[in-house]
Amino acid sequence: ALTIGIVGLPNVGKSTLFNALTKNTVLAANYPFATIEPNIGVVNLPDPRLEVLAGIFGSERILPAAVSFVDIAGIVKGASEGEGLGNKFLANIREADAIAQVVRGFEDSDVVHVDGKVDPKNDMETINAELILADLETLERAITRYEKEVKGKKLDPSVLAAAKEAQEALQKGTPLSASSLDLSPIAELGLLTAKPFIYVFNVDEAVLTDAARKAELAALVAPAEAVFLDAKIESELIDLDPEDAAELLASTGQEESGLDQLARVGFDTLGLQTYLTAGPKESRAWTIRKGDKAPQAAGVIHTDFEKGFIKAEVISFEDLVATGSVAEARAKGKARMEGKDYIMQDGDVVEFRFNV
Ligand code: GDP
Repeated sequence: ALTIGIVGLPNVGKSTLFNALTKNTVLAANYPFATIEPNIGVVNLPDPRLEVLAGIFGSERILPAAVSFVDIAGIVKGASEGEGLGNKFLANIREADAIAQVVRGFEDSDVVHVDGKVDPKNDMETINAELILADLETLERAITRYEKEVKGKKLDPSVLAAAKEAQEALQKGTPLSASSLDLSPIAELGLLTAKPFIYVFNVDEAVLTDAARKAELAALVAPAEAVFLDAKIESELIDLDPEDAAELLASTGQEESGLDQLARVGFDTLGLQTYLTAGPKESRAWTIRKGDKAPQAAGVIHTDFEKGFIKAEVISFEDLVATGSVAEARAKGKARMEGKDYIMQDGDVVEFRFNV
């Protein structure tokens, strides 16, 4: 599943946000791993189309796509120098697909800021510098190992070369995601600055309702995506029923919760999309990469579906809603038979045909 790790300075609201995420997990009972691993939180990707499909097909349940959050790492200045302490904390984050950096934007004299003042720009620079240092440390150790392996003819020299190029870029202060290097030979290292980043500004109501301030903060991190939320409100929202939650959100000028935003932005940042399946048992969204072809999409349901793929019957969500049923869609020529080269489109409602 798609996973995101959370990093940030101490006292910026990471735990508060993560608590909201893990409390949310209780609702996401369809994801059994979430209850086994206490440090995993799950957010469903909101998708109103599933309700509509469930209505058309009389589905018993709805299964949205989900994004999971794996761990939190608090990072202070110098973390990367502290005898690998930083590294230990970053272990789970290395395996994540993306990193969400929580940045404090709320003012509260009761909550101490590690650097004495609330300064989002400065905080982000501190964190990014520490992540660069952590990557340099990882690379240094890897390069020593790679050199031995290349000498012993156990490793292709291109891997060592890629590691050295990455090291050079980082020494110049360039995060790897901003370099044009091919990092695939050293993907196993899980380098942090190579991952896509999402910035989560934990702000108070004054900022949530201040479009100009939000635009200013978003500009600091562009082209990365910024999400604005109030972690305290998020943890309260989780305990409310939908109407009360909507009312609380509206009172802070928001249309959707920060967690929902985070799921959507996470999906986008990682270049993911969903396709839909529906029947009397369930209406469900499945996660694929943008550009995936029909057999790969089938493989997300079951590897046998990919291996034995014959064709896919595809109806766009809009056509299905307009015609009202699969039978009507077929009769009106809106159901397409697509082959193995078909590139999946967001919102395709699909039934796969396959050999077993
Ligand atoms: P962490 O160290 O980054 O995990 O930060 P915590 O989540 O433990 O939060 C540190 C303190 O800030 C706690 O006392 C929280 O209650 C408080 N806090 C977190 N988010 C907010 C917020 O949005 N507004 C305000 N006023 N306080 C917050």
